[in-house]
Amino acid sequence: AAVQKPTAEVPAIRLRRLTKSFGETNAVDGVDLDIRQGEFFSMLGPSGSGKTTVLRLIAGFELPTSGTIELEGQDVSGKAPFERDVNTVFQDYALFPHMSLVDNVAYGLRVRGMGRTERRERAAEALGRVQLGKFVSRRPSQLSGGQRQRVALARALVVEPKVLLLDEPLGALDLKLRQQMQIELKELQRSLGITFIFVTHDQEEALTMSDRIGVFNNGKIAQIGTAHEIYQRPAGPFVANFVGTSNLFDPVVAGRLYGRQEQFVVRPERLSLSWDRSAAMHDGVASLPGKVTSIVYVGHATQVNVALEDGPAVVVLVGTELPEGEQLLGRDVTVSWAHRDAVWLPGEA
Ligand code: ATP
Repeated sequence: AAVQKPTAEVPAIRLRRLTKSFGETNAVDGVDLDIRQGEFFSMLGPSGSGKTTVLRLIAGFELPTSGTIELEGQDVSGKAPFERDVNTVFQDYALFPHMSLVDNVAYGLRVRGMGRTERRERAAEALGRVQLGKFVSRRPSQLSGGQRQRVALARALVVEPKVLLLDEPLGALDLKLRQQMQIELKELQRSLGITFIFVTHDQEEALTMSDRIGVFNNGKIAQIGTAHEIYQRPAGPFVANFVGTSNLFDPVVAGRLYGRQEQFVVRPERLSLSWDRSAAMHDGVASLPGKVTSIVYVGHATQVNVALEDGPAVVVLVGTELPEGEQLLGRDVTVSWAHRDAVWLPGEA
C-alpha cells in the first residue's frame, strides 16, 4: 500500500493566476490550483474549456501569458520542457514505428545519456510493470490498441517523472478496453505513488479514477473536489449539468414547496415515479404531475423522461419492472422526491 504522506507538504503542482491567451481567446483564464503529491487529479470539461492548454503549460510546450507554475515548490514557468521533471502520455501514443518496444521505452533514457545495458534493463522492467514483458522485441504495429497504450505509459514512466501528464490517453480505445485500462491505470498510479494529471471530457471516467477533479468551463475552474463532492454538491448549474444528469429546478416551481431563491437539482435515481396521478401527499415529499415523453432502456435500469406540468422536463431512473402490456408513452404520471434529496445550488437563480 502507498505510504500516506503528511498533508502540509509542498504541492506537486501549484498554479497561480495562470493565463494563456491566443489572440482574442483566453484559453486559460486566471487558474489557481494546487495538485497534491501522489494524487490522481483529473481535469474534466467540455471541448474547448482549456484542459489541454493547462496540461501543455505544465509540460512547457506553451508558455503562460501571465501567472506562474510551480513544480514541488520550484518556479518552472519559463523553463523548457526537458528542464521540468514531468512527462506526457499523448492520446495518439506517439510511438516510433521502426523501433522495438524495448527501444521505444528506452529512448528517454538514451537521451539522458544512460548506457545501453542499463537502459534496456530498465525498459524491460517498465514493460513488465504494464504486463508487456513477453513482447519486448515486437514493433508497435504488432500490438493491439490497448497494448500500445501501455507501451506509451511504460515509456513515460521509465524516466521516473515526479508528475505524469495524460491527455485523453484512453480516447482511442473501445468501451470495454477503456474500462479495463481505467482500472489498470489507477492501480498502477497507486502502486507507483506518482502524481497523475489526467485530461478527459468523459465524466464517468473522471468520476471512477480520480482522487479529485477540477471541472473546467471557459478557461476557468468551476469546481474542485472529490467525485462525491462534485456529484452530490455541485457548485452551480454548469457543474450540475455537466456532471451527471441533473434535473435542474427553478425556485419558482420550488417556491411553493420550499420558499427559497436558488435553483436546485434532484438526481434521476432520487426521483420516483408513480404510473398514475394519484400519488399520496405526505410529509417531507414533493410531488408534481407530468406526462411520459420517452422511455430508454439502459441495461441495469430504465430511464423515463417526463415533462412536468408545472416544471422542467426530468429524467427518472426506474430500477424496477415497468407495468407490462400497457401504453406508457404519453401517460399521466406523478414524479416525487424527498425534500432532503434536493441539492441546492449556491447563488440566486
Ligand atoms: P478538447 O477537449 O477539445 O481537447 P480542451 O478543453 O482541451 O478541449 P483547449 O485545447 O485547451 O481545450 O483549447 C481551449 C481554447 O483555446 C479553445 O478555444 C481553442 O480553440 C483555443 N486554442 C488552443 N490552442 C490554440 C492555439 N495554438 N492557437 C489558437 N487557439 C488555441
